[in-house]
Amino acid sequence: MFCNQCQETLNVKGCIKNGVCGKKGEVADLQDRLIYVLKSIAFYNLKARALGLNEEATDRFLLDSFFATLTNTNFDRREIEILLKKGFDLRDEIKAKIPAEMIPSKRDLPAVVTVTPENIESLEVAVHSTQDKDIRSLRELLTYGLKGLAAYAHHAYVLGYKDEATYEFIEKGLVSTTDDSLSIESLLGLVMECGQKGVSVLALLDKANTETYGNPEPIAINIGVRNRSGILISGHDLRDLEQLLEQTKGTGIDVYTHGEMLPANAYPAFKKYDNFAGNYGNSWWKQNEEFEKFNGPILMTTNCIIPPRESYKNRIYTTGVVGFEGLTHIYEKENDTKDFTPLIEQAKTSKPPEPIESGTITAGFAHEAALSVADKIIDAVKTGKISRFMVIAGCDGRQKERTYYTDFVKALPKDTVILTAGCAKYRYNKLDLGDIGGIPRVLDAGQCNDSYSLVVIAQKLAKAFGLEDINDLPVSYNIAWYEQKAVLVLLALLSLGVKNITLGPTLPAFLSPNVVKVLVENFNLRPNTTVEEDMKVLLKQA
Ligand code: SF4
Ligand code: SF4
Repeated sequence: MFCNQCQETLNVKGCIKNGVCGKKGEVADLQDRLIYVLKSIAFYNLKARALGLNEEATDRFLLDSFFATLTNTNFDRREIEILLKKGFDLRDEIKAKIPAEMIPSKRDLPAVVTVTPENIESLEVAVHSTQDKDIRSLRELLTYGLKGLAAYAHHAYVLGYKDEATYEFIEKGLVSTTDDSLSIESLLGLVMECGQKGVSVLALLDKANTETYGNPEPIAINIGVRNRSGILISGHDLRDLEQLLEQTKGTGIDVYTHGEMLPANAYPAFKKYDNFAGNYGNSWWKQNEEFEKFNGPILMTTNCIIPPRESYKNRIYTTGVVGFEGLTHIYEKENDTKDFTPLIEQAKTSKPPEPIESGTITAGFAHEAALSVADKIIDAVKTGKISRFMVIAGCDGRQKERTYYTDFVKALPKDTVILTAGCAKYRYNKLDLGDIGGIPRVLDAGQCNDSYSLVVIAQKLAKAFGLEDINDLPVSYNIAWYEQKAVLVLLALLSLGVKNITLGPTLPAFLSPNVVKVLVENFNLRPNTTVEEDMKVLLKQA
């Protein structure tokens, strides 16, 4: 195996035996092969699209399969093997619909396009095996951006919000990584286009979430526990949460969120359930110890699962694109619904969760809520009560260096306001940071899925201050990344022209020195350093 797609890759180079995340070498190899098959599907489906022959099932397969290869999503060898088999069948079905004259001869096609179940194990076509290190770097950057794009498109898709242009771009991007004629400039162009598509898909997901469940409202979320048994839900899938709340209504079983599901507490549609009890625990990497203490069943809806301990293996369930060998998977039924009875039955005989903390945390400041206090915010900036906004968003992770983000927040001047989205906030959202004239010092827009809110807030503030360029706002960016959704969010910000981003805790291992140079020269991207040094730089910007 070789995998370097996330921030925790071994020695900031690449995982080569088993993943730091717990992914086994054989699963990593199977996921690489699945991506080869996706490239082959993409090649033929672009031609099918041109003939008006694209089928929705192909869109769904691409989104499901690509999402399954994200960090901490699917560790299940059998599931990936099933996807591989389905992928070959689908590729052959699509190919059979295309007139022979539209298909170049085999010798003119990249090897991956003609991949077969017989030769797939011997193919040397992984992105990371590309010889030129800058081309390799850009192919990887594009591939990981596309993974993030597919994941966010998937979240919107399950709520019925679809976008053919995004799916077509995913196919085009996949095929581009096999094209040896593409120059560095062309690949850079595709990487930026991926960022633009990221902005559109994040906007679509925002529309999907808010039209379906309402605009998040500011809320103090309970982080303690009640004295009844509960079900814990993690990941990002709001539709799974909705169905779980509906099915547990009136059963006497409470539902708690974990990790990235925390912002769901702020949606009006979910507040009506009196068994929706609050948030339990912290971000994804703390799940081992926290799941052990929860005592009840746990549902993992999207990326964020880590190898479970034996102590709770019999009460953790997967659904959707998530997989882990030995765990019970809740499949979608023909009518697109899911039956969570196994969790509900198990909860009936479970002990209540063990308390691990108490009190509340404030959330629910997505764009509508944040902009409803825009006048107050603008006034506070004009009168000097707020000196600067710090976007400290993105991912959390298990490396001890990430205490940097807690230290950075603690060291911030008291007249700064933090804008956040994603699980990075768990590094500081339980600190007592106070408010500025009633405006909380942490405005939490939600999941990483809600990063679009931060863009809307920045654009509206720029308009209110009469600025043409959002880089002229008193906003600094100190972003933490971990996995491929974060790669897409970073590309989305760059495509909007956002400059001066500080990125940490380490730069992606897949960026070559020359690609880093391009990002520095064009966007003034910089790696984070120490709290003191970064504070000096970030407080002086714009
Ligand atoms: S996802 Fe990250 S930790 Fe897991 S194998 Fe890949 S690089 Fe390693
Ligand atoms: S914030 Fe980052 S680590 Fe957390 S779920 Fe989103 S992409 Fe993954």
